[in-house]
Amino acid sequence: MAERTRVVLKSGKDQSLRRFHPWVFSGAIKKIDGPSREGELVDVYDNQNEFLASGHYQQGSIAVRVISFKPVETDQPFWDQKIANAWSLRAKLGLVANPQTNVFRWVNAEGDGMPGLIVDYYGGVAVIQMHSIGMHRNLDAIVESLKRAAGDRLHTIYNRSESTLPDKPGITGKSGFLLGNRERGEVLENGYRFNVNWVEGQKTGFFIDQRENRKLVGEYSTGRKVLNMFGYTGGFSIYGMGGGADLVHSVDSSGKAIDLTRKHAELNFPGDARHEAFAEDAFRYFKNMKESYDLIILDPPAFAKHQNVLNNALQGYKRLNQRAFEAIAPGGILFTFSCSQAVSRENFRKSVFVAAANARRKARILHQLSQPPDHPVSIFHLEGEYLKGLVMEVE
Ligand code: SAH
Repeated sequence: MAERTRVVLKSGKDQSLRRFHPWVFSGAIKKIDGPSREGELVDVYDNQNEFLASGHYQQGSIAVRVISFKPVETDQPFWDQKIANAWSLRAKLGLVANPQTNVFRWVNAEGDGMPGLIVDYYGGVAVIQMHSIGMHRNLDAIVESLKRAAGDRLHTIYNRSESTLPDKPGITGKSGFLLGNRERGEVLENGYRFNVNWVEGQKTGFFIDQRENRKLVGEYSTGRKVLNMFGYTGGFSIYGMGGGADLVHSVDSSGKAIDLTRKHAELNFPGDARHEAFAEDAFRYFKNMKESYDLIILDPPAFAKHQNVLNNALQGYKRLNQRAFEAIAPGGILFTFSCSQAVSRENFRKSVFVAAANARRKARILHQLSQPPDHPVSIFHLEGEYLKGLVMEVE
């Protein structure tokens, strides 16, 4: 392993790596010995020349994303092992060959020891989303490993990294089919049917991370009037109907999302008049709303993509939740979520607390929700715990 570029850290900046945190920030670097090419595999040393980790170099605030805390070569067997490990965890979770659910996250970046790589699985289709040049440079090997790990459970691979890879010169081939050419398909989640378009849909096509929280909504829906706010393709709505809701209203500002929601309602509950969908802004809907709901779901898009807009994001959560507390019927159940990585569980809870206080409504927390186990979080990298939810009973 001679002559690999060495990244040497400033004195005292080695602690987080020793605790297996997978990022090296540019400010921690004392010097770089050797060429520092975008996406290249480099070795990280402490100030005393002790080896700490190998990872992908990239210019920017996160300068190295660690892929191993032992010296490694990123050859085909290396990727085979990593991807196979990720697949076998999903098998252990009962998600592979499950007759009720064929949608899951196969690779969850840091949570699977592969910073910069997301792979979602849609019943035979792998959708890749890369966030780092290092992963992009290893695309061919990763694709090969996906095929080897899944065997005949994989017929299509689509790379969807156009919007997630940083803009750097010479980086081409960010999106496109790498196996097969199917653009959309029907998938099953807990027995419910959804159409997913992995080429055009949001993220990789579907919000897989809400699977278990949707199930819980189903359990609380019996005999309730449900409002699914920020519904996207209506995941929560379908579970609400399945759970025996009296009525389910889905709201999203995107007309396309509302069309898909109507389709999904028809697909799962043909001719069922309990469901209605509205293409409207959430705040406007709250303002003009006529119905009284006793189960409300708030699942807005990430309000804070970066730490520096954190305060605005917390204000946003407060305002939104306040509207819901003001509107919800006595004894109602509120499911409220934040998927902003920059917003901590504590801060999110505080925003919701201020919202309830402002609305003069008493609320009790019944559940504290998170992401499902196919979105694992490294204990050394709690930033990976991005999805936070509260279920409250509102007096
Ligand atoms: N709950 C969904 C995922 C929600 S993603 C699921 O389970 O699949 C967030 C959604 O909020 C997107 O579909 C987006 O179109 C919608 N959205 C964004 N801003 C909005 C606004 N101001 N009012 C209503 N919907 C909005």
